[in-house]
Amino acid sequence: MSDFPAGSVWLVGAGPGDAELLTRKAERLIASASVVFHDALVGPSVLDLAAPDARLVHVGKRSGRHSKDQASIDRLIVDAALAGGRVVRLKGGDPSIFGRSTEELDACRAARVPVFVCPGVTAASAAAASLGLSLTLRGLARKLTFVTAHARTDEPLDLDWKALADPQATLAVYMGKASARMLSERLIAAGLAGDTPVAMVENASLPDERTFRTRLDLLSLAAGTALGDGPALLLIGQAVGHGAAQGTLALAAAATAAASR
Ligand code: SAH
Repeated sequence: MSDFPAGSVWLVGAGPGDAELLTRKAERLIASASVVFHDALVGPSVLDLAAPDARLVHVGKRSGRHSKDQASIDRLIVDAALAGGRVVRLKGGDPSIFGRSTEELDACRAARVPVFVCPGVTAASAAAASLGLSLTLRGLARKLTFVTAHARTDEPLDLDWKALADPQATLAVYMGKASARMLSERLIAAGLAGDTPVAMVENASLPDERTFRTRLDLLSLAAGTALGDGPALLLIGQAVGHGAAQGTLALAAAATAAASR
């Protein structure tokens, strides 16, 4: 295959989990790989696309359960390519968003291993689709901010709260479940209204997907009770409330119609 010679590496976006959300290119690359390194967020239906004789290596990282450190993963990928493999490094969502892809690109380049990137559907896009809403909204949400709120247990989150508390922005918070309380307190302290709409989507695009809507001042409570232990994305901002209001109106209209029949 001309774009996937032996001894090369592709960092491939696996999307949010549903194999139908892979790009056609990702599907072809996965099917032609001799080795696939994947992390915990890559769904089983995506891994099923690998060739029967391909080697699947789990190098999963989930918060608090790091099975391999980044340097070991870099080395494994490079070694597999130097041994003549067609290497796919599958990453949840899009490789360029909170995916540590720079380290892997640098490691390949340092070893003179040809390396390429295939983009994927990021969790924020999948979450918005599940909620049936738009991340941007003309006149209301002119800015979309991707932020990670992954905090080590011993360190406070070091974020520019003033900049994040922008009422004209939508915040897509990755790895934010554990920091929900801090997020809500700091954003409100920095001036964002307590009734700012929030949506949480766990396992977006997967059969066990859960969506939950709340507001910023209730976020901590909601995150603690409404979510399980799957990956979850938080969306914060006026655009997030848009569908909710219409959905509620539609429900109310349907209920009124039903009652009058
Ligand atoms: N590169 C990935 C993000 C990796 S960081 C992407 O572009 O989506 C891991 C975080 O992504 C998780 O903690 C969660 O916040 C989010 N995430 C990944 N997959 C998800 C899914 N299916 N549903 C909800 N959130 C998801």
